[in-house]
Amino acid sequence: MATALVTGGAGFLGSHLCDELLRRGHRVICVDNLETGSLANIAHIRQPELTFLQADIVEPYFVDEQVDVVYHLASPASPIDYLRLPLHTLKVGSYGTHHTLGLAKRHRARFLIASTSEVYGDPQVHPQPESYWGHVNPIGPRGVYDEAKRYAEALTMAYHRQQGVDTAIIRIFNTYGPRMRPNDGRAIPTFLRQALSAKPITVFGDGSQTRSFTYVNDLIAGMIALAESGYHDPVNIGNPNEFTLLELAEAVIEVTGSDSEIVYEALPTDDPKIRQPNIDLAKQILGWEPTIGLREGLQRTLDESGADVLVGPAR
Ligand code: NAD
Repeated sequence: MATALVTGGAGFLGSHLCDELLRRGHRVICVDNLETGSLANIAHIRQPELTFLQADIVEPYFVDEQVDVVYHLASPASPIDYLRLPLHTLKVGSYGTHHTLGLAKRHRARFLIASTSEVYGDPQVHPQPESYWGHVNPIGPRGVYDEAKRYAEALTMAYHRQQGVDTAIIRIFNTYGPRMRPNDGRAIPTFLRQALSAKPITVFGDGSQTRSFTYVNDLIAGMIALAESGYHDPVNIGNPNEFTLLELAEAVIEVTGSDSEIVYEALPTDDPKIRQPNIDLAKQILGWEPTIGLREGLQRTLDESGADVLVGPAR
C-alpha cells in the first residue's frame, strides 16, 4: 500500500485529494496548520489509513514512516486569504516548499507541487500553453501569491535538476466544488451564496473578463494522473471551456432558480482579463481531459453541499 503525504490536506482541494487517494487504497498523511482549511473537511473520513499531522510547514517538519508520494498543496489560495496573509503566502511558497521538497528527497518520494494559472498573470497569449512564461506584476498586491508560486516552480526544478528529486508541477486553473468556503471571495462560492440568499450578485467590472472553471473531481483525477506519470515539466490541468463572469452569474442564477439581480463593482487591481488553459499536453501525456461541464458541476456543488452550507453563517 503506497503512502501519500498531502500538505494542505484539510483544505478544499486537499480534502478531496485525501478522499480519492484513500478510495484508491493509499495510506494518507494529511499535514495542515488549519490556517484556511478545517478539520470539518476531513471529519467524514473514518479510515485508520488517514493520519492527521497539525504542522506549519514554514518550519521544518518530519514524519517517521515511509512516504512514497508527496502532494504539496499548502498555501493560501483565495485572493481574500493571500491579501490578508502576504508574508505568510511568500513564506509558504519559499520555506514551506523547501521543507516539503527536502522531505520528499529524504524519503525518495515523488513530489508534486500545486502551482497555478496565476503564474501566467494577465496573459498576453491565449489560450495559455505551458511554454508561455507569463506577464506578472511582481509588486502589485497579488504579486505575493503569483511570485510565491513562480519561485516554488523554480525551486522544484532546481531540486529536480541538482538534487535528483522526482518532481511534477501541476498548473491548476480555477477549480470549484463542495467544501469551498462561502465567504472565501472566489467567484463561484460568492455567486452561489448570493443567489441562494436572494442577494444581488456582485460581478466585478463589466463582467466581460473570462475564466475557465474546472469541477473538483476532474481536477483531482488529473492531479493523480500527473503524480503517477514520470513527467517533470509543468502541466496545465483545467477545463478549456471559457466563460465571462457575466455568463457565470447567469448560470448560477439558472441552476439555483434564484431571482437575484446582477450588480457591478470595481475590478480588483491586476485582475486577469482572460484565462483559458491549453490542455493539449495533458491530453497527450496523461490521456486526461475534463468530463464535467459548468452547469452540471454547479448542480453537483449545490446537491452535495446543500443550500445551508453554501449560504454559510450570517456575517
Ligand atoms: P485552501 O485554502 O482550501 O487550502 C489550502 C490549505 O493549506 C488549507 O487547508 C490551509 O490551512 C493549508 N495551509 C496554508 N498554509 C499552511 C502552512 N504554512 N502549513 C500547513 N498548512 C497550510 O485552498 P485550495 O483551493 O484547496 O488550494 C490548494 C492548493 O491548490 C493551493 O496551493 C493553491 O494555490 C492551489 N490552487 C488552487 C486553485 C483553485 O481554484 N482552488 C487554483 C490554482 C491553484
